[in-house]
Amino acid sequence: MNIRVEGVVLRAVDYRESDRILTVLTREKGRITVKAAGCRRKSSRLSSACQVFCYSEMSLFERDGRYSLDDAFVKAQFYGLCSDIEKMTLASYFAQVLMAEPEESPGSEGALRLALNSFYALEKGLYPLWKIKAAFELKYACLCGYAPDIACCHMCGGRGEGYVGISDGLRTCKECMKTPPLGQFYLDSAAFDGAQYIITCDLKRLFSFDLPKGSGRLLSDFCERYLLDKTEQGYKALQMYKTLTGEEVQL
Ligand SMILES: [Zn+2]
Repeated sequence: MNIRVEGVVLRAVDYRESDRILTVLTREKGRITVKAAGCRRKSSRLSSACQVFCYSEMSLFERDGRYSLDDAFVKAQFYGLCSDIEKMTLASYFAQVLMAEPEESPGSEGALRLALNSFYALEKGLYPLWKIKAAFELKYACLCGYAPDIACCHMCGGRGEGYVGISDGLRTCKECMKTPPLGQFYLDSAAFDGAQYIITCDLKRLFSFDLPKGSGRLLSDFCERYLLDKTEQGYKALQMYKTLTGEEVQL
């Protein structure tokens, strides 16, 4: 049976002499595995669609629940990601996070849009890398159903500086929590505003927020730690990105 899907390649592994096994995040079927026979031959019309990060409309042949790539129309290549090691490493980290998307599930529309918006912003250099990374991390946690509840302090309703519980996602202001226990992450009020913006905004405007430098740093550390807590995974590409930028992973 032939089916059509739109999707972005999260991983491409060479197989046999000239084939490749792709992991594709699709609008229609969530994450799927696709075999692309002969795509590494020079003459193959499929070769550009079988590169990692490439976004295409794909025509697949399905048999016994396995997919093979029949034809592809490339919609965005994101070539620019591969010309800059930091951008490429960050995009690889995003791809590794998105590998957690369920297989054969129709619920990946948001994750696909998040991937495409983030790859586009990275490729074009539209925003600082920390901002794209933080917004991706927190928005993805929200798409997975883990939006933190930080509109205001859950005890007094105040909106001043304070803490977010990494596990429960609850906000408590400094007045209500004088001595934070372990697992509470400090944010100033601007960082809270930034986080709340990411949680509530439309994906189209994901990166359209501004923060003072110190607050950006707080937000950035929080988003990473929050996502890592929710996905309970270490990511090789994140470790590499941190090595490149001279930072440490938030644990
Ligand atoms: Zn309070």
